[in-house]
Amino acid sequence: MKPLNPIATGFGESVFTTLTRLANQAGAINLAQGFPDFDGPEWIKELAIDAIKTGPHQYAPSMGAISLRQGLADFYLEQYKLSLDPAQEILVTVGASEAIYSTIVALLAPGEELLCFEPLYDSYLASARLHGVKICPVTLPFPGLEIDWDRMEDLCGPKTKALILNNPHNPTGKVFSQAELEKLALFAQKHDLYVICDEVYEFLTFETPHIPLASLPGMRQRVVTISSMGKTLSLTGWKIGWAMGPHELIKPIHHVHQFITFCLAHPLQIALANTLPRLKTYLPEFRAQYFKKRDYLIQGLTSLGFKPQRPQGTYFLLAQVPNGQTDVSFSQELIHTKKVAALPLSSFYLESNQGTQLIRFCFAKKMETLSLALNQLRGGL
Ligand code: PMP
Ligand code: GLN
Repeated sequence: MKPLNPIATGFGESVFTTLTRLANQAGAINLAQGFPDFDGPEWIKELAIDAIKTGPHQYAPSMGAISLRQGLADFYLEQYKLSLDPAQEILVTVGASEAIYSTIVALLAPGEELLCFEPLYDSYLASARLHGVKICPVTLPFPGLEIDWDRMEDLCGPKTKALILNNPHNPTGKVFSQAELEKLALFAQKHDLYVICDEVYEFLTFETPHIPLASLPGMRQRVVTISSMGKTLSLTGWKIGWAMGPHELIKPIHHVHQFITFCLAHPLQIALANTLPRLKTYLPEFRAQYFKKRDYLIQGLTSLGFKPQRPQGTYFLLAQVPNGQTDVSFSQELIHTKKVAALPLSSFYLESNQGTQLIRFCFAKKMETLSLALNQLRGGL
C-alpha cells in the first residue's frame, strides 16, 4: 500500500483526547480537557428544542442563518462598538476550530509564515501544517508571560503573512493588556500583517474587560476575529463559531468554509440567534460563577503547596510541577495516585522546554467537583 499523507499520520492523538482517555480509564476527575462538567441554562436548551420543532431543517445559507448574523452584528455593536455588515462580514462556522482552519487556508499560501505566541493552542499548528504554512513561535516566558518584541522583529521576514493571537490566552490565562494590544497593532501595521484573533474566551476576563484587537485604530481592515459560544454558554458540544472581519477577508474564508462544512446545523443557529438578546443578563452571572471557581481552586491548590498562577481570563490556570519531575510524569502520578487529571503543557510548545515544568488545571467544573478534586489531591482518596 502507498504511504498516506505524512502530515496527517504524523499528528497522533490530541493531548486533550489522550488525557480524557487516561482520566476515564483511571476513574480520575478530569481537570485536564477544557469543558464544563455542567450544561448551559435550560432556557437555551428550550430554545433549541423550539427550533428543532419549528425548523428550518434544511441547509442554512453557507454564511450562516440571517437572523444569527444580524443578532451577532447587533451584539458586537453594542458590546464593543464594532460595526459589522451582517450580510458580508460575519461567517458562521462549525466552532471556532473550523473558523481557524478556514481562515489560515484563506489568508496564507503554502510556504508562507504565521507568527504565534507559545504556549499555543494545538489546532493552530495542525491547521498550518496541513496547509504547508510555517508556524514561527514567540515564547511567552513563564511566569511573566511578557512579549519578546525583539524576537517578534527577528522572526518577521518577507514570508511572514500573519500573526495569530489568542486573547484571553489558553492555556496561560493571560489577558493581553491595552498597551500590549496597541503595540501589537502597530507591529502588524508596520509589517503589513493580517491578524487572526481567537477570542473564544472573550466573556471570561476577570479583572479587565475584553478588548478586541479589531477595535483598535487601523486594525479593522487587517483583523479576522474568531469566537464561539461553546465556553460562554457551557455547551461546547454545540460547536457554534464564527469569523468576523472586513468583507475582503471574510469572502475567501467563506469560500473555503463552503467546501469544508458548508454550514452549521440550522436549528442550533436559530437557537443561538434567539439566545443573543438575553446574553446581557446572562453574562454577568456567568462571569461571577467563574470568579468563585477560580479563587476556590487557587486557594485550595495553594494550601496544598502548589504555586498556581492567577489567570486574568479563561477557565484555566497553570501550576509548576515539583522539582525533579516533568509535566508528563507528574500528570501521570496525579492521575494514578490522586485520581485527578491535569494537562501536561509540553505539547503546547514548539521551541521552549518550559512546558516540561508546567501543568494546566481547568476550573470549568461544579464546585463539588473542584472540592472533591482538592480533597483527593490532599490525599483523602
Ligand atoms: N481556540 C481556543 C483557544 C480554544 O481553547 C478552543 C477550544 N476549547 C477553540 C479554539 C475551539 O473552539 P470550538 O470548540 O468552538 O471549536
Ligand atoms: N479547548 C479545549 C482545551 O483547551 C479542548 C478542546 C478539544 O478537546 N479539542 O482543553
